[in-house]
Amino acid sequence: MKRFLVVVLAAIALCAAGQVERPKLVVGIVVDQMRWDYLYTYDWEDGGGFQTLLNDGYRCNNTIIDYVPTVTAAGHASIFSGTTPAFHGIAGNSYSINGKTVSSVQDDTEKAVGGNEQSRGKSPRNLIATNIADQLYLATDYKSRTVGIALKDRAAILPSGHTPTGAYWFDSNSKSFITSTYYCDKLPKWVADFNKRNRKDLESDIYNLPVGTTLTFALAEQALINERLGQGEATDMLTISVSNTDMCAHNTGSHSPKLDSIYWQLDKELAHFINVLDQRIGLGNYLLFLTADHGGTHGCPRMEEHHLPNGAWENGKAREAANEVLKARFGVDRLIMKDHGFTFYLNHHAIDSAGLDTHEVAQAACRELAKADEVEWAVEVADLDNSPMPSIVKERIKLGYYPGRSGDIYVIHRTGVQLGKTEYAGSNHGTWSQSDSHIPLIFMGWHITPGETSRLTHMTDIAATVCAMLHIQAPNGCIGTPIFE
Ligand SMILES: [Zn+2]
Repeated sequence: MKRFLVVVLAAIALCAAGQVERPKLVVGIVVDQMRWDYLYTYDWEDGGGFQTLLNDGYRCNNTIIDYVPTVTAAGHASIFSGTTPAFHGIAGNSYSINGKTVSSVQDDTEKAVGGNEQSRGKSPRNLIATNIADQLYLATDYKSRTVGIALKDRAAILPSGHTPTGAYWFDSNSKSFITSTYYCDKLPKWVADFNKRNRKDLESDIYNLPVGTTLTFALAEQALINERLGQGEATDMLTISVSNTDMCAHNTGSHSPKLDSIYWQLDKELAHFINVLDQRIGLGNYLLFLTADHGGTHGCPRMEEHHLPNGAWENGKAREAANEVLKARFGVDRLIMKDHGFTFYLNHHAIDSAGLDTHEVAQAACRELAKADEVEWAVEVADLDNSPMPSIVKERIKLGYYPGRSGDIYVIHRTGVQLGKTEYAGSNHGTWSQSDSHIPLIFMGWHITPGETSRLTHMTDIAATVCAMLHIQAPNGCIGTPIFE
């Protein structure tokens, strides 16, 4: 509360001077696969980052993702653009275009900057909507500067938009932070120096160890210092995404000692980083929000051990089995060409060549996929309105569907079922279920009064809220509503 009073006094003083209509800096922090209930299941230390956020921030306790699939790339794109895959085009971590798998940020017209021969070019070009950073850039006559930092490429690239000063991510090939020619032709000295200085840590298993979190915030701090974010005449932006919370949960489960150690480190790093912001930018001069790109399940063995409903489904195996049945009926091999998680792509070339009816093939494929106990509905997206599926789920499929990138068929699991194998302890996500779609959301700092609400809010409201507070136009695809409490 003491922090909050300083924030208010600073805001009043600056308003009285007629200088500030916007904060010096907006900081957007995404914790990959952070379930909402982690805010309350961990007994956070006094003085730690989470306790500071809980005490001094405004908590939206019922923030939901309104589309499927609830996955990383779609989440990072949606948080910052205030819209969903139907309007920003990031329909998954990867998707299929004419039978070719494309990663959300892959861009072969660009080259990696830093890294080695195996490192690939990346860019935000597949993101077809603008986001908060882009709108800030436009609203400030291109003076606003943004930097995006994460271990995962998509988690650095999609939040920082089309117009950032830089975006930096960890490249597994070269074990270093790199960027691409979309942003610059030479790795800034401060990033190259950071790589040199931290060589040993960068070569460790950073996706599964707390040091991954430390390196992420350490690089963000270097960005803050070296790019002089928050020191210019316009509002700047820094986006940070913590990726190892996701990878470690996938590998070890939602409540493993390894994952716990990463969250405890995150608590320390957040405390340190908030302190750095207070010192460099000034208490009350920055607006910070923390959220997640999606939640995650508890994994089947943990649920089974405690007699809770669970299950798992292997999409690849289901596709192969369905293809056998379709071949017997239509005489054509591989009529389902690909699957990406919950979405299945029909082989339109083979369907047309054989003179088959797409709808007939799709319906036969859906019937086959839906035979599994773990599947509640398999629907042809073009025929969605004729399905008895409840409209709340239909709406989420529609909001997550981008023509030309999403598949022809969408599979909705029985409640509590995850992708993968039942014996696998790791968590997963992607479904409409609360475990995957309920995310933490806390705002803190500039013009934020501590408090909380359990009113239903949406991932798409985050960008709407930030833009409304800054008095800038919302991103061009934004469908969210500002949270005004
Ligand atoms: Zn994720």
